[in-house]
Amino acid sequence: MQLHRGFKLRSIVNALVLITVVATLTITSFISYRSEKQSLTRMTFQLNQVYAEKISDTVNHLFEGMKTSLAVTGQFLSTDLERPDLHEQLVLFQRSHSEFNAVFIFDKNGLLVDASNMDPNKKGSKVNSIGVVQALHEQRPIVSEPYVSSAINKLIVMVSEPLRDETGNYIGFIGGSIRLHETNIFQTLLGSAPNQEGGSYAYVVSSSSHLLYHPDDSRIGEEVKGNEAIIEVLQGRNGSKRIINSKGVDMLASYAYIKSASWGIVAQTPTEIVLSASRKLVVKLVLYMLPALLVFMALIYWAIGMLSSPLSKLATFASQLSPKNSAGDEMPRIHRLNYEANELHKAIGRATRHFRSQLDNLYLEAQTDPLTGLHNRRTMDRFLKSWIAEGTPFSLIVMDLDHFKRVNDTFGHDKGDEVLKFLSGMMLRQLSNNRICCRFGGEEFVVLVPNEDIGAALADAERICKLMSETKSPTGDIVTVSAGVALFPNASDNAEGLFRAADQALYLAKRNGRNRVEKISTPVAAEQVL
Ligand code: GH3
Ligand code: MG
Ligand code: MG
Repeated sequence: MQLHRGFKLRSIVNALVLITVVATLTITSFISYRSEKQSLTRMTFQLNQVYAEKISDTVNHLFEGMKTSLAVTGQFLSTDLERPDLHEQLVLFQRSHSEFNAVFIFDKNGLLVDASNMDPNKKGSKVNSIGVVQALHEQRPIVSEPYVSSAINKLIVMVSEPLRDETGNYIGFIGGSIRLHETNIFQTLLGSAPNQEGGSYAYVVSSSSHLLYHPDDSRIGEEVKGNEAIIEVLQGRNGSKRIINSKGVDMLASYAYIKSASWGIVAQTPTEIVLSASRKLVVKLVLYMLPALLVFMALIYWAIGMLSSPLSKLATFASQLSPKNSAGDEMPRIHRLNYEANELHKAIGRATRHFRSQLDNLYLEAQTDPLTGLHNRRTMDRFLKSWIAEGTPFSLIVMDLDHFKRVNDTFGHDKGDEVLKFLSGMMLRQLSNNRICCRFGGEEFVVLVPNEDIGAALADAERICKLMSETKSPTGDIVTVSAGVALFPNASDNAEGLFRAADQALYLAKRNGRNRVEKISTPVAAEQVL
């Protein structure tokens, strides 16, 4: 039904405004989210990059220092590996270089000469740890891969410098170990990474992709494969990248190469943290915008109402226009804001007035006798019906011109018509306004006299009779009239019975010599009508 009749202008415009507002809000939110995400991502990359590079520089610096110290001490001690204070020297060295958990010297055969953390009596034991084997084999400064030291059964990284005698012959190496699971330089440097509470952290990988430091201690020593940031950093590059790490987590990773050890440091933040921060910001933005938008929408809603209400009123008015109720309807009052509505208002006003005057004419024609201007029979029936239904007491006068046929025959039909108009004019003039005067048909007339006793009706009828008999008609001669009167409800409680009674009275008047009035006060049976 609604579809058939169409949607109201106000609803359509309101829906359009709502769609526009929602679309604007969505697009704005989307754009803000994107730009916020981009800028937060950029910032996170920068922060991680700066951090990774700073740590890389520090570690580099430290390692260079550690290597130099080892080399210098090695050079000093290599002159006499049998010296009695060798152990003491190593202990002193280790204490002044706490980056190392232990410092030790091996001879060229891999036999332990001394170690800062060892009982001096255990000298001479053979150690086959990866670092030891590598250092002996390569005979150059090395930073080992992480391995489990067979001597102490701990995961370590070894930094070593070769020892040579005065003639330059290789006699062994001096090394320092960093225990990866214990307090070490990485923990000191990386243990308090910025923005840790936000999920950011850093880790260090060796050149063979093994974790040297990771906030999750259990992962230290683990080999990490397929991590793009690690692949990049171990190729000696610094940079930033969004990656999926080995645990499947989306990360914003920045990395820096630690040249002195061929290691890499990766500082990273879960991407979800940046995304959720962006989302929160957008939600905030929407919440800030919402009250203003609601006010804006309310204003638009009000304005649309203002603009559409004249059209709506006119549409309602036009849809209710019908011959039945047009007579009572007033044009709706509208405010004069909108040009089109004003023009429409004027046009509908003009059309309605025209329509109504046409209708009024038609209505008048429909209830009036065209020759005499009296009510016609249809109108009379209406009054009769409603009065009988309401029980309004009234009298019915039926009048008939006497020998009218003769008038027509003598003076012609047109003169006869003038006589009819003459009588009706007299009725209108002589009878008071509440009398309903009708031309019943031909030369018969009916008068309904409401709310009076029969005497009033008789007096009316007598007066007309008398006047007609005393006044010359348009023919130049006197034309008389006879009348019969019956009272409702005394004569009958229905129209048919009442007419029967009035006709009977009229018949009596004709029979008793015409130019007179007769009444019937009691019911007349159908078979009594003569
Ligand atoms: P009575 O006194 O018995 O009523 O005699 P009457 O001649 O009036 O008798 P009747 O009622 O039979 O005649 C009515 C005549 O009225 C017949 C008809 O020619 C004439 N008539 C009916 N309608 C009109 C009309 O509209 N105009 C004219 N001029 N004459 C009409
Ligand atoms: Mg007649
Ligand atoms: Mg007659």
